[in-house]
This record gives sequence, C-alpha cells and structure tokens, in this order.
Amino acid sequence: MFLTLEGGDAAGKTTQAIALERWLTDLGRTVVRTREPGGTALGVEIRSLLLHGDHVAPRAEALLYAADRAHHVATVVRPALERGDVVVQDRYLDSSVAYQGAGRVLDPEEVRGLSTWATEGLLPDLTVLLDLDPAVARERRGDRAAEDRLEAEEDDFHERVRAAFLALAAASPDRFVVVDAGRPAEEVAATIRAAVEPRLRP
Ligand code: C5P
Ligand code: MG
Repeated sequence: MFLTLEGGDAAGKTTQAIALERWLTDLGRTVVRTREPGGTALGVEIRSLLLHGDHVAPRAEALLYAADRAHHVATVVRPALERGDVVVQDRYLDSSVAYQGAGRVLDPEEVRGLSTWATEGLLPDLTVLLDLDPAVARERRGDRAAEDRLEAEEDDFHERVRAAFLALAAASPDRFVVVDAGRPAEEVAATIRAAVEPRLRP
C-alpha cells in the first residue's frame, strides 16, 4: 500500500508520517517511511541543489524534482511495494503539480506528465492532504530563519500552492482525504488513521 502525505510547509507532514509509521508497525505491518525530495543518496544531492543552491530556472526545477522522483520510485518505492510493505511518503507528485505548476506557474498538466513518465504512472492508494492556511504556517515557523529557499517565498506563492492542492483533492476524491492541519497533532493523527484503516488489506 502506497500512502502519501501532502501539504504546505509546516503543515505537520513529518510528524504525521512518523505517527502513521508507528501505528502501522504496531498493527504488524512492515513500513518504509520515506520522503521527496531526498529519499535516496542521489535525491539528497538533488534536494541540496534545489533548496540550498542558487536560483534554479522553473523548468530545470521541475526536471530535477522529476529526476529525484524517478530514481526514488525505481529504487525504493516500487521494490517496497513489491515486497508487500506499506510505503508512507512525505510528498510525491502532487507536490510537483502544486509547487512547480501553480507555484512556479508552469502548465500543471505538463508537470504531471513529467511525473507520470518518471514514475511509469505509479499513483498512491491514498493521499492525505494536510491543509493549512499559509498565515498560520508562517506563525508556526515563528522567528526561526527560513530553512530553505521556498520558505522565504511570498505568501502569494503559498496561497497558490494551497489552492492547487485543494483543487487536486477535489478532482480525485477517491484518492484524497483532506485534513484540517490546524487542529492538534493527535486529532489530526486520529483522522488519518480513520481514513487509512478501511483501506488496509488483511
Ligand atoms: O517538505 P519538505 O520540507 O521536505 O520540502 C522541502 C522544500 O521543498 C519545501 O520548501 C517545499 O516547499 C519545496 N518543494 C517544492 N516542490 C516540490 C517538493 C518540495 O518546491 N515538488
Ligand atoms: Mg520544509
């Protein structure tokens, strides 16, 4: 089973991925918790170029995310799914459609097409969208210095990304569950468990 967590920065994806991993492990599942960008050694290098390097032209950015995803799917995600493991993944192709599409103003369908090619069409069984107002996300980050280039983007950028995620969820209601990430982490975790449980195969 392939589960992905999506949403803006500071929505709590990593916290929820860890909680989900713990719960699934307690249920006796073998879990591979991973992330994009940076779920492989090559991906760590791509992540560093994307987030800590100089300006990257939008189309180059989209290709680098797609390259990270291609390598990650081929070497980590597909092998895990073939073993029957549950993959819990922080970000996947919806992040590219939202960030490189709506955020960088590339054609979202072209960006999706790159990912489809890169992953040979692998889609998650379930995608949890942790939805959070960018103003609240900014408050959560507080005075902490921006961790990467993206966090320093204008609110307008993050508003476009949020709207794009919500539109993706609305367009694929069977794959997505939208969770209000402004609630306490334990409540968010319970909502996620309730969405995952009926989809777990025995
Ligand atoms: O979620 P995480 O903190 O790992 O993401 C790192 C940064 O990469 C974030 O600032 C996020 O906005 C950005 N990102 C992006 N496009 C993607 C995935 C992540 O701009 N496809
Ligand atoms: Mg971040």
